[in-house]
Amino acid sequence: MRLILLGPPGCGKGTQALRLVERYGIVQLSTGDMLRAAVAAGTPVGLKARDIMARGELVPDDVVVSIVADRIEQPDAKNGFILDGFPRTVPQAQALDRMLKEKGLGLDAAIELKVDEGILHERIQKRVAEMRARGETVRPDDNPETLEKRVHAYRAQTAPLVSYYKEHGSLRSVDGMAPILEVSAAIDRVLGAARAVGAAAKSPTVKSAARKTARRGAAKRTKAKAKRAKAGTKAGTKAGTMAGTKGRGSRRPAAGRPGAKKARKKAINKGRRRG
Ligand code: ADP
Repeated sequence: MRLILLGPPGCGKGTQALRLVERYGIVQLSTGDMLRAAVAAGTPVGLKARDIMARGELVPDDVVVSIVADRIEQPDAKNGFILDGFPRTVPQAQALDRMLKEKGLGLDAAIELKVDEGILHERIQKRVAEMRARGETVRPDDNPETLEKRVHAYRAQTAPLVSYYKEHGSLRSVDGMAPILEVSAAIDRVLGAARAVGAAAKSPTVKSAARKTARRGAAKRTKAKAKRAKAGTKAGTKAGTMAGTKGRGSRRPAAGRPGAKKARKKAINKGRRRG
């Protein structure tokens, strides 16, 4: 499963990402964490990013895109990943689309955590207090002035991604103001829906184009079935039985249909993950 978490700083992306890691056995790829590690290690990327991050601005697209491109090549990302903090601009989203397309992969969903901006300061203050209580070093950008700039950067550069993913058919919005466990449950629900749509499209993506193709295919099959049934052929009977087995709304693959093997494997994996 490949997911994106979208939302302003303090909306709970990190918290939900950790839970998704456990739930689905995929890795969390946080560009913020990667950049902070680069800063701490004093790498060339870190040196470039340090002051930009401290100001609450966005690191240049090419820098972040190349970090993500390297990271998703790692073996632990093969199973899937949750991108937390990436993409943050439309060019980053386009770069991600290209990267995934080259690998023949798609996105399962872009999950938007919707929150009132008023709550963000409160949440960041709480995070700072908790980090201090644990004796941890507080992020240099977790202060009221920089947070204001980060929220501004989100509004100006990242919020347009909500429309971007809506147009691509992969946006799933969740109320991020609810308690943590409720947000998690809501994410599970929208992911269930995203996976059902993905299965219908017989594609690893939930792009609307894929869904349209699936719908067209289904309509064609129904038409052909009716034609055969009318002609009273043996094939018509067989097709009728297969459609009956499948059942309305069921995603169970009918044996022998193109893609049936892939869909069966997907259904088995789904069962394993649930178990
Ligand atoms: P938050 O989501 O709490 O704002 P992050 O830990 O995701 O914080 O990111 C911290 C900082 O790292 C950002 O303010 C920005 O400077 C930089 N950064 C992280 N991800 C990206 C990205 N995809 N593009 C550009 N800059 C980024």
